[in-house]
This record gives sequence, structure tokens and C-alpha cells, in this order.
Amino acid sequence: MGLTRNDAAARRIGWIIRRMHAEASRRGAAVYRAENATKETPFKILVFTMLSARTKDETTLKALVRLFQEAKTPEGVLALGNKKLEKILFGIGFYRVKTRNLLKACQSLKGRGVPDDLEGLLELPGVGRKTANIVLARAFGKTALGVDVHVHRISNRTGLVKTKKPEETERILTAIIPARHLRTLNRDFVAFGQTVCLPRRPMCGICPIRNLCWRVGVVDEKKGNPGKKSGNRKK
Ligand code: SF4
Repeated sequence: MGLTRNDAAARRIGWIIRRMHAEASRRGAAVYRAENATKETPFKILVFTMLSARTKDETTLKALVRLFQEAKTPEGVLALGNKKLEKILFGIGFYRVKTRNLLKACQSLKGRGVPDDLEGLLELPGVGRKTANIVLARAFGKTALGVDVHVHRISNRTGLVKTKKPEETERILTAIIPARHLRTLNRDFVAFGQTVCLPRRPMCGICPIRNLCWRVGVVDEKKGNPGKKSGNRKK
């Protein structure tokens, strides 16, 4: 249909996601533990997602546990104040900026729930499109796709898309993948990216979806050559 380069993978996306999920679960992907630890409330999911940018899930989870021991609501977080919150979040990437954003977001959330629509979420300080989509999918079960570095990388390596920017990846995946798979796609691609399709050294030799993956740009360590280059395949 022209939108997808690797049409075979797009057609079998349900199978691919199931295989990714099984392998990443077996390997104890951190994102599944994070999901279990944050599923009680939309506020917890929002806070975790805001804090997790450029930080390992394990580190974010520890900070989240410390935070929720002290405060479980926007009002409670505000009552902590900047200094104490910084101390709690110390260790996660950009903790000072995230402290400020979280306090501003809590000010905006005071007395109302976490918004369940994209526009409302994007109005919150520190919440971009990726975070908003992840919250919509995980907290409210909506058909939304948050594209982070893992989703963007794996989608390009497999040949599902050929894109430079996450926004393009989101647009194309949303167009070619059935809605029923979109809600969990972020979680399972992230889990797979944490355990098998690693950023620097993807474990292609043991990969359960290798027969459908084009390995675009992946260096073959024995030969020292990149895998199939984007543009080598017909649409
Ligand atoms: S075959 Fe390699 S590049 Fe493709 S999804 Fe598996 S680990 Fe990633």
C-alpha cells in the first residue's frame, strides 16, 4: 500500500508483538516492572512517565517509590516544596528541571484529575506528545502511540518505517497498524529494546523475530558491514 516498506512485518505485527513480549518478559524487562508498580492511578502513571525521560526505568522506579512514600496527590507533591522534591528525585536525569516541571504540573492538576485527552495533557508543563500518548494508552486505555527512542529505533531497523523523526514514526505506525495493537506497542517495543534489540549491539542471533526483520543499518559484527540499508528494498 506504499506506506510500509516491510509489508510482511506490518501484516504480522500481532505475532511480532507477542514474540517480543514473551522474550522481553522472560528476560525481565524493566518496563514491565514499572508498569506493575504504577498501574493504580493515572497520576502515578503520569508522574512516572514525566520522570522517566532519559533515565533507566530502574532508577525512575526507585525515585517514584521514594516520592509516593511522601506524597500521593498533586496537593501532597506541592506541599513537599522544591528543595525536598529535588532531594527525593536526585539520581534521575535532569532532576532539577523535572522537579520544577512536576511542581508546575501539580499546580495545574490541583483539584482536578489527570486530563484524559491529548490537548489537556499537552497543556501540562513538562508533558510532550510522547508522554501524553503513553499516559493516554496506559492510564485510560486509549488508542494512542507514544514513540520514544526504542520504538523509533526498532521500527526503522525492522523496516516497518523509514523515518528520521519520532513524529513521522508515530504518524506512519498509526496508519499501518490496527488500533487493537497500538495501545501496547510502546510497552512491548520498549521492553524489547531494553533486552534484545539493544541500541548499540542488537542481539540478532537470538532474536525471535529475525526472519521478519530487515536489520536496516545494523552492523554485522563478523563482516563489519551494515545490514540492509534503507532504500535497498522496494516499497
Ligand atoms: S533481528 Fe536484530 S535488528 Fe531486528 S529486531 Fe531482532 S535484534 Fe533488532
